[in-house]
Amino acid sequence: MKLCELFGQGRTVFSCEIFPPKKDAPVDSIYQTLDGLKDIRPDFISVTFGAGGSSGLNRSTHEIASIIQNQYHIHAMAHLTCVGASQADVDTLLEQLKEDGVENILALRGDVNPDYPPKTDFKYASELAAYIRAHSDIGVSAACYPEGHPESPDLVSDVRYLKEKVDAGAQHLVSQLFFDNEDFFRFLERCRIAGIDVPIEAGIMPVLSAKSIQRMVSLCGASLPQKLTRILARYGDHPQALREAGIAYAIDQISDLIAGGVDGIHLYTMNNPDVAKQIAGSVTSIRTL
Ligand code: FAD
Repeated sequence: MKLCELFGQGRTVFSCEIFPPKKDAPVDSIYQTLDGLKDIRPDFISVTFGAGGSSGLNRSTHEIASIIQNQYHIHAMAHLTCVGASQADVDTLLEQLKEDGVENILALRGDVNPDYPPKTDFKYASELAAYIRAHSDIGVSAACYPEGHPESPDLVSDVRYLKEKVDAGAQHLVSQLFFDNEDFFRFLERCRIAGIDVPIEAGIMPVLSAKSIQRMVSLCGASLPQKLTRILARYGDHPQALREAGIAYAIDQISDLIAGGVDGIHLYTMNNPDVAKQIAGSVTSIRTL
């Protein structure tokens, strides 16, 4: 099933994102993550794709997507980047995914990692999306940025290129994490005005540690609203208190987004099923309304 078909059924789509564990993690750790996530019955689970493909990982993106689809019977979406895949790599992957019944790809540009020379067959995610649509019948999703992509000179050109990406073949969008819902609602309005009419999921990352959130914010450029800065200032040195406050913040964000009619919630789980369960459990009736 193409993920875009999940939307428009009168309820909010709820999905989760995981990453392939590193080589030094126990080989079965992915099963622990998935065993926990299956209990919250996500509409789909997506698997990230790192620079350098599967080297350094104990299982590849494609392998985990196949496990999700075939052993857990949950729709899977495999991430894929331009910098990490040549045209020949994409052709091979499309064949493998087809064989394994994985029907969805998140087409991304990726960021250059100095340790791995980038592949250059596709420059932008829109080119990758167009190629996949032209050479397979796999569903194609893409990324979007409520506060603009960090390299974009302004929000207008950001949405213009996003529209090009949708016109090139992206059938569903998943947003970068953000902490201020007003940023997301304003972004949605810009998209709809620009004629972007595919479903757009809101990406939510619970704040669980001050260090990891500062790192994420410096990488992706998301801004921290005062409400969250206060939480970090007050509980930053108290891991359990920060965890509770971070989960409460994420639940509050999600309930407000659903009340505002968002198409879907995409939870960045950081492979932590307990936190995902706690959050999903607190919005069960809200998300099925
Ligand atoms: P693009 O859509 O190609 O855009 C990149 C930049 O180029 C933007 O500034 C855009 O405005 C601009 N642009 C686009 N088209 C043009 C054009 N024709 N001319 C000029 N400028 C243009 N990274 C990973 O490595 N692995 C992952 O698994 C992964 N998963 C992600 C999941 C989500 C939901 C998100 C939001 C991001 C993810 N990323 C991942 C990070 C992503 O790869 C980076 O944010 C990257 O910098 C941009 O990727 P993109 O697909 O959005 O790029």
